[in-house]
Amino acid sequence: MHTKVLFPGSFDPITNGHIEVIDYGLGLFDTVVVGLGINTSKSGLFAPEDRLEWIRRCYAHEPRVQVEVYNGLTVHFAQQIGASHMLRGLRTAVDFEYEKSIALINRQICPDVRTLFMIAGPEWSHISSTLVRELLRFGGSLNGLLPDAVLPDVQAAAAQKFRS
Ligand code: ADP
Repeated sequence: MHTKVLFPGSFDPITNGHIEVIDYGLGLFDTVVVGLGINTSKSGLFAPEDRLEWIRRCYAHEPRVQVEVYNGLTVHFAQQIGASHMLRGLRTAVDFEYEKSIALINRQICPDVRTLFMIAGPEWSHISSTLVRELLRFGGSLNGLLPDAVLPDVQAAAAQKFRS
């Protein structure tokens, strides 16, 4: 049987923390669908097309990773694509509290889709897209935080945003 997991998020932009979660998913499932959620109440810094392209570039040589945009409820999207599980990363106790309520609500809505959690490794647990956006805004070093394949383009896109 072909197994599939959905890894949902905003990926604004993709970080090495996300890469760790996707790679973990690849070890457990045949296909990892990275779902870029377009959240109307959270417009994001980077254009969804750029965010999508950056994720795709990181996995250009891995056909088992698919990258898709979705609207609406994440758990409905998981059901729609036939994913048995959703994958989330946990960095802190705050992440845990938040993710626990979401997972329980999702379980109520769609009991057949379960959420799996991965504890972030110590080298990545301090990385968040929010922190990366702050560093981009104020010119801090991004060494080791973003995948090499996307770093120059993310920096160029950020420079354009913050200049205008
Ligand atoms: P969202 O806005 O849905 O939280 P993010 O793109 O910020 O989207 O995060 C998507 C997922 O990636 C979440 O499960 C988050 O916990 C996880 N994640 C983000 N950064 C890391 C990290 N450094 N280590 C492990 N998981 C992470």
